[in-house]
Amino acid sequence: MAVTILIPTPLRPYVGGRDALELEGGSVGELLEQLAGEHAGLKRHLFADDGRLRSFVNVYVNDRDIRQLAQRETPVKAGDTVSIIPSIAGGATAVGVGAQHAAPLLSHEEILRYSRHLILPDVGVEGQKKLKAARVLLVGAGGLGSPAALYLAAAGVGTLGIVDFDVVDKTNLQRQVLHGTSTVGMPKLESAKQRIHDLNPNVRVETFETRLTAENALDIMRDFDIVADGTDNFPTRYLVNDACVLLDKPNVYGSIFRFEGQASVFHARQGPCYRCLYSEPPPPGLVPSCAEGGVLGVLPGIIGSIQAMETIKLILGVGEPLIGRLVLFDALKLQFRELKLEKDPDCPVCGTHPTVTELIDYEAFCGIGAEPSYDGAEITAQDLRTEWDRSPDLLVIDVREPHEYEIAHIDGAVLIPLSELPTRLGELDGHREIVTHCHHGARSLKALEILKAAGFSKVRSLRGGIDAWAVNVDPGIPRY
Ligand SMILES: [Zn+2]
Repeated sequence: MAVTILIPTPLRPYVGGRDALELEGGSVGELLEQLAGEHAGLKRHLFADDGRLRSFVNVYVNDRDIRQLAQRETPVKAGDTVSIIPSIAGGATAVGVGAQHAAPLLSHEEILRYSRHLILPDVGVEGQKKLKAARVLLVGAGGLGSPAALYLAAAGVGTLGIVDFDVVDKTNLQRQVLHGTSTVGMPKLESAKQRIHDLNPNVRVETFETRLTAENALDIMRDFDIVADGTDNFPTRYLVNDACVLLDKPNVYGSIFRFEGQASVFHARQGPCYRCLYSEPPPPGLVPSCAEGGVLGVLPGIIGSIQAMETIKLILGVGEPLIGRLVLFDALKLQFRELKLEKDPDCPVCGTHPTVTELIDYEAFCGIGAEPSYDGAEITAQDLRTEWDRSPDLLVIDVREPHEYEIAHIDGAVLIPLSELPTRLGELDGHREIVTHCHHGARSLKALEILKAAGFSKVRSLRGGIDAWAVNVDPGIPRY
């Protein structure tokens, strides 16, 4: 019997789409080397140039982190399960929240509204008063923030703070159930406020229409008891984590990608923080965002609801919080798995000798803003139309996936998915002018880099992708 290696969604394209592989080997290191050897595309995701395992990838044998075992020398035996867990654009001891606020009284309306809570022995009138006194900050009113806001408001959390600066877009409605068709075009905060007040007018909504930054995070978060992190990008995730550690607040974490989700509660006073789990973010572009990679509509509903549940448990001080545990949810298998998380004594923010003692520049930390400049390498949709009419020999390469091509495509463009491009360069004529295009213009820049590195000199990328083409050139193409 061999060892089973579980492959997470973001890495499945590199192993032929499979979710698990069976390999033979005596140690984790042997298995990983075998894996990278057999699947070349996987190698750069697992190992840094110097051969070290990348720090945004964690490896577990059964439910234990190899960093707490013998690292890559950790022995494995037949029947063991090795999980590769990359970061994905995340006892009954009460945290004592609510306790610091004076217990408010419940009105007759509230007693009626919360009656199913009041008759629960673990909640009761005392618990309901704790909920009413509690102040919870939601970072993001999107996929995860939607169910979290709705359930926390319905349950009677007295004050909900929401940080968001986005406007409701039609593509949000497939999963962001806090918003509706009637609020498309409205700031998400305004839309959220309306919906929450309709659901429970007793809830006070405090809105922060801003991007959370190192300059404002501590001031915004200071007055809240618990922070629920529903962000979709790494800089904000690390910012929320570090600010929570510095302020000693529990950070109720959730993250989602395609069909998979993660949830945990990071509270450095009692357990690990997000940086103990992933000390560094992946390089920009290596892990696709939900906008690029897609996300199943119900998934944020499940993970965001877990965040709401954990938040309520922390407020009430009941049950066992998800501190020191990482829950992984696979929607396709309808399977929950749980991994133990340990505090890293060398953690740069919550370890014994922290090096991060104030908030830092998180964009720079995540390598954002350090990308190469693409001056002159891009072409607008209108210019492409003009040039293509003038020189029909121009080659337009669509680097999206076949299922995206099926939704909408530009007539005359040749489909070569980005993942296949490096092995299909031989099909291209190096003398022709080439324009790469994708959905919004990010992947086509990667394609441009691949082509340039392979010696193609006359390459440009369509700025804004097929979406810009649909808006500015051909309204007959559906936007998605
Ligand atoms: Zn830590």
